[in-house]
Parts: sequence; C-alpha cells; structure tokens
Amino acid sequence: MSQNDLINSALSQSDTGISQLARKQVRALTPYQSARRIGGQGHIWLNANEAAASGEYQLDCARLNRYPECQPPQVVDRYAAYAGVSTEQVLVTRGGDEGIELLIRTFCEPGQDSILLCSPTYGMYAISAQTNDVGIIDVPLSTERQPEFDAIIAKLDQVKIVFLCSPNNPTGDLVDQAGLCRLLSAAKGRALVVVDEAYIEFCPSFSQASLLADYPELVLIRTLSKAFGLAGLRCGFTLANPQVIELLLKVIAPYPIPEPVAQIAAQALTEQGLAVMRQRVADVNDLKTTLGLQLSQHSEVKEVFAPHGNYLLVRFKDGAALFARMAKAGIILRDFASRPGLADCIRITIGTPAEMDAVLDVLQQEQ
Ligand SMILES: *Cc1c(COP(=O)(O)O)cnc(C)c1O
Repeated sequence: MSQNDLINSALSQSDTGISQLARKQVRALTPYQSARRIGGQGHIWLNANEAAASGEYQLDCARLNRYPECQPPQVVDRYAAYAGVSTEQVLVTRGGDEGIELLIRTFCEPGQDSILLCSPTYGMYAISAQTNDVGIIDVPLSTERQPEFDAIIAKLDQVKIVFLCSPNNPTGDLVDQAGLCRLLSAAKGRALVVVDEAYIEFCPSFSQASLLADYPELVLIRTLSKAFGLAGLRCGFTLANPQVIELLLKVIAPYPIPEPVAQIAAQALTEQGLAVMRQRVADVNDLKTTLGLQLSQHSEVKEVFAPHGNYLLVRFKDGAALFARMAKAGIILRDFASRPGLADCIRITIGTPAEMDAVLDVLQQEQ
C-alpha cells in the first residue's frame, strides 16, 4: 500500500463528526506509543528508561508572576560548560523530544522534504515527521546494527535530516565515529546529521560533541530525562553550530521553559548536581554489568545486546511468555518483538538493586 492508501484507510475508520475538521495527516496519525500510554498493572516500572529516583530541589516562587526567559541564561551557561561547547551552541527545549520536532519543523518543507532514520530506533523521529507531513526514508541498521553509511550517503539528495541515535534506543549500540565523519563530510551543505545522545552520560567518552567544531551540519540531542533522573521535568538540549541554533530560535515558542523547570535544571547542572548524576551513572552501570552477566548465562536468554545506555535489550527464547510472566509478577518491561529484527526482544531499564533482583527471581522461577 502507498502512504496515501494507508492514510485513506485510516481515515475511513475514524472520519466522523469533529474529527473531519482535523488535518488529513493528523487524522491518520497513530500517536507515539509511550510507556505511559501503553501502561500496565505493576509495581516495578522498568519500561521507560527512567531513573529509579529523582533528587531534592528548591523552588523560589517569587517570580512566577513574570513570564520566564525564552532561554534561561544560567541553564544555558551551565549546560554549555558541562557539554564543553559555547553558549551559542546550546538550545534549551521541552525535553529532547522538542529538539527533534523543532529540527523537523525548521528544516523540512511539509509535503515535500524527508528525513532519514535507521530502524530499529527511537520512535519520535518518525512521529514528528508524520505529524508535520514530512516523508520518512528508512535505511535499516546493518546486521551488526551499525548505520549503513554508504547507503545513507547515497540518499543524501533526498533528505534534509539524518537521525542517528548513539547509544541507540533500543539496541544500545554506538555509532562508529569514522563512519559518522564520512557521512558528515558528504552531508556538507546538503543535510543535517543529528546524533541523539539521550543516554551519552552512561558512556561519556563516546560523545560526538568534539566534532561540533569541525562539522557545521552536526546536531546533538541531549536530555535531563535519563542520567539526570528528571524525566518529569521535561528539559532537553540541542547542541549545534550557532547558525542552526538561531534558526531553531525563530521557530521555538516564546516561553518554552517554565520558570520552575529552569530553576531545577540549573540546580541539576551545578557541580554538586553533576556529582550526583555521575554517582547515579556509576551505580546503574555496575548493576547493568551484573544483570547482563547473569542474563547471558541464563538458559532462556539467547542474546544480551550492547550495554551502553541505562537499559539492556535482551532476546529471549520466548519473549512473549517471558513478558507475560514478568507482568504477572508486577514487573512492567518494554516489548520490542514486533520491530524488524527484534523478534523475542524485551528492553529492561536498570532500576534499583531490589528491582533487578525481582527480575532475576521471576526468570529463575520454575515454570
Ligand atoms: C528519552 C529519549 C529522548 C528524549 O526524551 P525527553 O524526555 O523528551 O528528553 C530522546 N531520544 C531518545 C533516544 C530517548 O530515549
């Protein structure tokens, strides 16, 4: 079926009353199946790559009568210092997701331009493209789960933005830097290359931030939702050359960052906040190593994927049965079995030691 056939068949199912008034593209849309939307019954939530606990923060409500700054200076300054870039290379957004959306809205002509992504990967690139009537070209990851750089370069004339994710959600793999540099050279003046580094704090030496100085087409997506333990805050960052940031600033809402968000983000980015984050990362990485080892020795496990984020993607002999057993025990995981190449694969967020023990207990149980 062509994309239009798909849209029309989706439309015929729901085209009554008020919904007829909405844009055709929106009527046909299936919203992002976020962990929250999928939901589930359970007391152990290991399905959204959230941190196990958040920190303690102070709020000063004295200025809530005033509109906030579009770009809170303290947050910009501290994030720039943390990321090793200049303040003109930083945009603060409502989560990393808003950065993805803004890039598409700023650089892609609706009904005309396309983005490129490498499945299986994070779902929001496709959702944001579809919402904005922007096409999607999929160049699936290789069997070694690397971007097919030659195939991507061959398609550069057909796309405005290439989305890569490193560590990739859900597979955990890192993008090869030599390949990335080759792509960036080929993309010169033709397309942006976005590297989504939402999980980079769990393997900071693999950040591509040092390439920003040499490649003006490179854009990085960052977030406070994962290693900083602040998914509820909705604060993310786009790092790019100042020209890209200036264009994004034309499109972003006038007051995107609520004052309480700015205050808490600024605290999370102090020396002390960064130390807390680094300790959280060290704890998660320790637990991940232990869990990975135990899983890889288990008879029901076929494969443990790359361990570079705060999660492990695991291929079980029977993923559906395992998912159901976990759910029955109140442990909510994320099922990726329906994605190409990910049959029987389930993603497990690294939570507390007790939560990891609970996962292993269920796995150990006689069936
Ligand atoms: C979580 C995540 C993001 C951004 O999440 P926000 O909560 O919107 O900051 C971006 N990319 C990937 C790959 C993610 O997993």
